[in-house]
Amino acid sequence: LKTAEIISIGTELLLGEITDTNSSFLAGQLPALGLDLYWISQVGDNRARLLEVLQRAWGRSDLILLTGGLGPTEDDITREAIADLLGEELKVDPRLEQELRRYFASRNINMPERNLKQATLIPSAQAIPNPQGTAPGWWVEKEGRILLAMPGPPGELTRMWRQEVQPRLRARVEGAILVTRTLKSWGMTEAAVDERLSPLLSSSNPTLAVYAKVDGIYLRIAAKAATEEAARALILPVETEVRELLGEHIWGADDDSLEVIIGELLKEKGLTLATMESCTGGLVASTITDVPGSSNYFKGGVVAYSNEVKIAYGVPAHLIAEHGAVSPEVAQAMASAARLRLGADIGLGTTGVAGPDQIEGKTVGTVYIAVDNGQGIHTASGRYPPQRLRVKRAATTAALFELRRALLSRR
Ligand code: ATP
Ligand code: MG
Repeated sequence: LKTAEIISIGTELLLGEITDTNSSFLAGQLPALGLDLYWISQVGDNRARLLEVLQRAWGRSDLILLTGGLGPTEDDITREAIADLLGEELKVDPRLEQELRRYFASRNINMPERNLKQATLIPSAQAIPNPQGTAPGWWVEKEGRILLAMPGPPGELTRMWRQEVQPRLRARVEGAILVTRTLKSWGMTEAAVDERLSPLLSSSNPTLAVYAKVDGIYLRIAAKAATEEAARALILPVETEVRELLGEHIWGADDDSLEVIIGELLKEKGLTLATMESCTGGLVASTITDVPGSSNYFKGGVVAYSNEVKIAYGVPAHLIAEHGAVSPEVAQAMASAARLRLGADIGLGTTGVAGPDQIEGKTVGTVYIAVDNGQGIHTASGRYPPQRLRVKRAATTAALFELRRALLSRR
């Protein structure tokens, strides 16, 4: 197997009602198997048009991945179209029928006869178990090709892929596999990162790519080799060099998120946190509480959007009068007030101009962050693209990044 192709089935996709996250998921899985993905198609619940797409795929790809259309209803036509493609006949499989009837019985529901079609197979197909739903997948092999039909609901698809399909495919793929390592940075522009890494950017195995995400600039190192170990060995020296060149700007790798890192640091040090937010409007507190167990270290936060609320919660009025609400001085006072008023070890303050209009003569996108870690106050400033939601998100990332820094520097 070398080349792969994905087909997602469902009229909702073509109506723009749902986003095709199944294709993105599968596309992201194929490089690690060393498979080259050349096409992704979307097609509605229409037997003739699906057949047309299937015929084209059968003629040009070694592995064809289908998602959707395995349900019990009239418009679920994936099985029928595959049978059409291969000129084979659908038959109810007695073992699958028994399983299906048991599934319904265990839920005390009479099985609608329509569901019987979910127990059908063609001679070239084997069932792939789907404990989360009623529709088993299909593993079809013929003429040196593999065609896999998997359910549309994303939870069922990802489980089936991880537990059943990926391990079986891994054994079948020949050739090099691709392993990637992503380093995440904050506090430098994409161009500045690019410039600093320029000596590494021309390398071809591994390759190094720079791209921007909401929580910073990502560096993707990708290596091809016969085994995962060999690929990792190619990645390691490049990773070390990137870390040296970008220093403290690198905050994590792969699936790391700042909110999880901060939670771990707080737990490890036995510290608690409180926030006072202006321009981020509570997004920092919301992000921190995305992490399970955050109640162990997050005391709470105040959304001090107006000057009155800032003052009521302990920001000295004269600081606002002298420096304006959007100032490093007020960010620092917010951090200290959060710490003291909410009884936490660490306090965080955010203030800035989310837009669309400037405030106090300060440009849209200006943000000040301060962290009072009980031993001193860390302050940072940023200037982000002048769009409200981008400013809120960037300021939130900046706040979490500063929190991490202030936690690491606490003795
Ligand atoms: P069911 O047994 O639930 O009918 P199915 O295999 O027939 O499953 P569909 O009917 O095509 O799958 O889709 C069921 C639901 O799964 C859709 O309403 C949608 O929420 C989700 N879904 C389907 N295809 C995709 C896709 N490509 N990306 C993301 N979600 C999808
Ligand atoms: Mg369906």
